[in-house]
Amino acid sequence: MLSCEKAHTFEGWFSKADDFDQQKADRLLDCPVCGSTEISKMLMAPSVATGRSKDSVHALAVDQAQKDALAKVREALTAIRANSEDVGARFPEEARKIHYGEADSRGIIGQASPGEVKSLLDEGIAIAPLPVLPEDVN
Ligand SMILES: [Zn+2]
Repeated sequence: MLSCEKAHTFEGWFSKADDFDQQKADRLLDCPVCGSTEISKMLMAPSVATGRSKDSVHALAVDQAQKDALAKVREALTAIRANSEDVGARFPEEARKIHYGEADSRGIIGQASPGEVKSLLDEGIAIAPLPVLPEDVN
């Protein structure tokens, strides 16, 4: 990428790095927009995370493709909920009972604190968080 003194940008057509200096010295390079021969090379900007403030939150700006994807996730979640017993706050207890064969094997959903989630995972009990979708949040 090249740029003139007025910051018009355009692609160079040279193939070797040192061609640039030679062409510039020979005034072979000019800006296709304003004709300036004051041309410099622009460094390709590496993609870096910029300007993320400490207060930033995870946000999702949805376009149509994401809406479609979300609809599929929502459908899957609805199916999971429909096929699971909502045990509410008894979730950690029920998950343990099922894991240790003290209760019928079935899908359950419910609430667990982060500490309880950690304990369950430490015990080797397969649990997963259910995602909260944008429209679920009020
Ligand atoms: Zn220009």
